[in-house]
Amino acid sequence: MITASTAVRITPSAAVDPADWRQLWRDAVTDTGELLAQLGLQHLVGRLPPADAGFALRVPRGFVARMRHGDARDPLLLQVLPQLAELEHVPGFVTDAVGDMAARAAHGVLHKYHGRALLIASGSCAINCRYCFRRHFPYGEEIAAAGQWRQALEHLQQDASISELILSGGDPLALVTAKLEELSRGLAELPHVTRLRIHTRLPVVLPERIDASLLAWFDALPLQKVLVLHANHANEIDAGVDAACRRLRDAGVTLLNQSVLLRGINDDADTLAGLSERLFAAGVLPYYLHQLDRVQGTAHFEVDDAHALALIEALRQRLPGYLVPKLVREVGGEAAKRPL
Ligand SMILES: *Cc1c(COP(=O)(O)O)cnc(C)c1O
Ligand code: SF4
Repeated sequence: MITASTAVRITPSAAVDPADWRQLWRDAVTDTGELLAQLGLQHLVGRLPPADAGFALRVPRGFVARMRHGDARDPLLLQVLPQLAELEHVPGFVTDAVGDMAARAAHGVLHKYHGRALLIASGSCAINCRYCFRRHFPYGEEIAAAGQWRQALEHLQQDASISELILSGGDPLALVTAKLEELSRGLAELPHVTRLRIHTRLPVVLPERIDASLLAWFDALPLQKVLVLHANHANEIDAGVDAACRRLRDAGVTLLNQSVLLRGINDDADTLAGLSERLFAAGVLPYYLHQLDRVQGTAHFEVDDAHALALIEALRQRLPGYLVPKLVREVGGEAAKRPL
């Protein structure tokens, strides 16, 4: 194993405006050979699965810049690099692991838990994470933002028990701000919805998305605002992410983080403690540590429950309680996420 830690120098393609998140989004690395060449890992090209194992490589250049040069076990690289192991069929690992479609309440709306409705706001992500259920999700039909969010807003209107609206996806901040403004105009007529929560990986993988127009939208929103980031390793958080988090907090947004427990990436106590402390330094509290959803092609990332519990116990012994995430598993048909 090579552990040289020379920082990777990644320059955006010539014509890209570094202040325009949509240009940066389009400028992501999508060619596995190019990614490995930038990291000095050309020798791995022969070990890649054909056709990216059916789920394209995609990673923003700013995220590549946080990977260690020459390290084939880099925890950021392992989250995005297609692996031969993804082609193995392992019993119990299926395409709809969470049974989400059974909770579909209206077009693009999942209503599974009391008081909270979740909208599949967008099918796009700036990054493709290998462990994600999204590799099999039939997004084509199921985007709540299609039209003017009409069906989603109608569902919210009919159920006064819903006080929290959750935007998920895909990545909801993939939507242009004008699309989010359409939603907030609709929400203005729904007094029982008092909280808006957004689950997004963009402040971490493309912090340029937290631009002036998005901050103005947050600022003007007359709801309580929660944003759940998704970082799995402290190395994902750099000065650009710190700055994005600061701008969000200044706009009145509460910041939480959820991670997925991933073998070979964050399945040791030092790494998880380092993540919690780095998150807190960025003004973010750890919320959930998820056991992997058993999605086809992801079995090589799974950590067994006994080890997961031992890790949480180790965190309890060395961190303040507020830096210990809740270890949970998503189980279809239950009234809440199941604590381990
Ligand atoms: C995870 C999830 C939620 C939110 O659950 P919390 O425990 O409040 O974070 C809501 N709706 C759906 C469909 C979910 O999968
Ligand atoms: S939904 Fe989240 S975890 Fe899945 S690919 Fe998109 S950013 Fe990654």
